[in-house]
Amino acid sequence: MEYLTVINEDEMLALGARLGRALRAGDTIALIGGLGAGKTTLARGLVQSVLPHETVPSPTYTLVQTYDVPGFTLWHCDLYRLEHPDEAYELGLIDAMGEDVCLLEWPDRLGNLMPKDALQIEIKFEGEGRRVALTGWDERDV
Ligand code: ADP
Ligand code: MG
Repeated sequence: MEYLTVINEDEMLALGARLGRALRAGDTIALIGGLGAGKTTLARGLVQSVLPHETVPSPTYTLVQTYDVPGFTLWHCDLYRLEHPDEAYELGLIDAMGEDVCLLEWPDRLGNLMPKDALQIEIKFEGEGRRVALTGWDERDV
């Protein structure tokens, strides 16, 4: 596990970009943290590192946004409003996981459907900034 201090939004975008360069098709990334922690910001930095011109809105209401990247589809999901894990089948997310890259805010909503080998990013508030714990990235050279 690696801990990082991320002092502002720009640094959070930069961290997302750094992780974006280490992505592989089939990765599932759990973005863990409370409301306003910076999950969407980090996802935005990651998506924009691959697709610089995308605005990357929060998928709060749509639950899912997909982006076509050479080699895979990039899924950005906000599962806060998922009422039951099984709804993830209808979204197409369960079929996508393990093949595409899936960035998941509120991954706990998937319960047992969450892959056990997902990479984890846990964000905590620390003063004005954030403390970020990365789990599973050790052999990724990020
Ligand atoms: P979440 O998706 O976790 O609810 P957001 O990504 O929407 O959170 O970010 C909420 C707010 O926190 C935004 O105003 C964003 O600019 C800010 N923010 C993101 N990362 C940081 C950081 N590392 N330090 C301080 N503020 C941050
Ligand atoms: Mg969000």
